[in-house]
Amino acid sequence: MRKYCCLLLLLSFLSCVFPASAQIAVRPQHGGQDTFYLLRPDRVFDGQQMQEGWQVLVHNHLIEAVGAPGLVKAPPGAITIDLKGTTLLPGLIEGHSHLFLHPYNEESWNDQVLKESRAERLARATVHARKTLLAGFTTVRDLGTEGAGYDDVGLKRAIEKGIIPGPHMIVATRAIVATGSYGPKALSYDLESPVKGAAEADGRDALIREIRTQIGKGADVIKIYADYRWGLNKKAAPTFTVEELKTAVEAAGSGGRPVVVHALTMEGMRRAIQAGVATIEHGDEGTAEIFAQMKEKGIALCPTLAAGDAIEQYDGWKKGTDPDPDDIKKKKASFTAALASGVTICMGGDVGVYTHGDNAREMEAMVAYGMKPLDVLRSATSVNADVFRINGAVGRIKPGLLADLLVVEGDPAQDISRIRKVKWVMKEGIIYYPGLSTPGH
Ligand SMILES: [Zn+2]
Repeated sequence: MRKYCCLLLLLSFLSCVFPASAQIAVRPQHGGQDTFYLLRPDRVFDGQQMQEGWQVLVHNHLIEAVGAPGLVKAPPGAITIDLKGTTLLPGLIEGHSHLFLHPYNEESWNDQVLKESRAERLARATVHARKTLLAGFTTVRDLGTEGAGYDDVGLKRAIEKGIIPGPHMIVATRAIVATGSYGPKALSYDLESPVKGAAEADGRDALIREIRTQIGKGADVIKIYADYRWGLNKKAAPTFTVEELKTAVEAAGSGGRPVVVHALTMEGMRRAIQAGVATIEHGDEGTAEIFAQMKEKGIALCPTLAAGDAIEQYDGWKKGTDPDPDDIKKKKASFTAALASGVTICMGGDVGVYTHGDNAREMEAMVAYGMKPLDVLRSATSVNADVFRINGAVGRIKPGLLADLLVVEGDPAQDISRIRKVKWVMKEGIIYYPGLSTPGH
């Protein structure tokens, strides 16, 4: 058995040296036997604190033990992996992704929804899923397929069955929008767009029916747009009434699903807070007062800094040369207010607006906008796990949780960009090496 394990380890190293796009996963071959890995990095980030000199014991797909070397006892036959110069962390959790979208500077959102076939969109999503996993993000909360129906449920199942590599997925299926507010718009008002970017539902009955339908199809969360750029002069303006949002929270809550709200405007945020949603996405116009209310009600903020940063650059902003555009200045101010308020802050960048696998961009933005690197690491692990109600499975390095781990070179608590220096990723005890990537996005 031991020899066999050594052979596997050798194969692992070979696949690291000679990465192959078709063969990125090295699965522990149990052969009826248990597999143990003893991992010895320089330090372990346990989801809360950086622990110098700690070790981790993995048993099949679970974390068995973690702590100082004397406290972690590996059984005979365990595969010891020395990880000098590295930090071992829980697999990261992306709080706001769209695996069915790709960057808008490649193709506008409208053209993706209207001109790309469902087959193309799903093919792209499989590539996005792999890139996400290889970047160290072992879980994503995917907040809407944007015209691709319930295909996120199918993608999630394919990953769970081991058909393709990818992260664990918390899926929203179709976002829910107020009639008339969302895109894509038809060529004239005489026509109906053949594809809807989201599900339209208004009033108590229609909202309840839509939410129950989505739950039945496999939605883990319900995503609702509390505002959108449908105001005069395309300004963001509220959509649903407080009563409608409360109905949504009630209907989703009956099925054990949280409601996740897109809200940029102050009024959209106010209504979402009154309705008692779980998280507010974006929150651009948030103020000290708004964030204090969120904190009081236990509503987390997912600020999506990287999406704004990307969109401004697509619109011509030369970052580092040009001064900050107004929207970036405002976003920095609101994020500063959020930090000061003590509201729970998730890590979620709205990735899909920018390149999948570049998820670390949000973590870097959070640091650039004033958050401490250690707090950003907490957001991307234990905080997201708590807020998304998955802390019984992932988000910390703790006995009994899934062996979803990330090994990076250096110390990301000192320099957050180290989170990009992925040595390998483990998901449910299986090691994935960032190798050659196939073309595509
Ligand atoms: Zn989004």
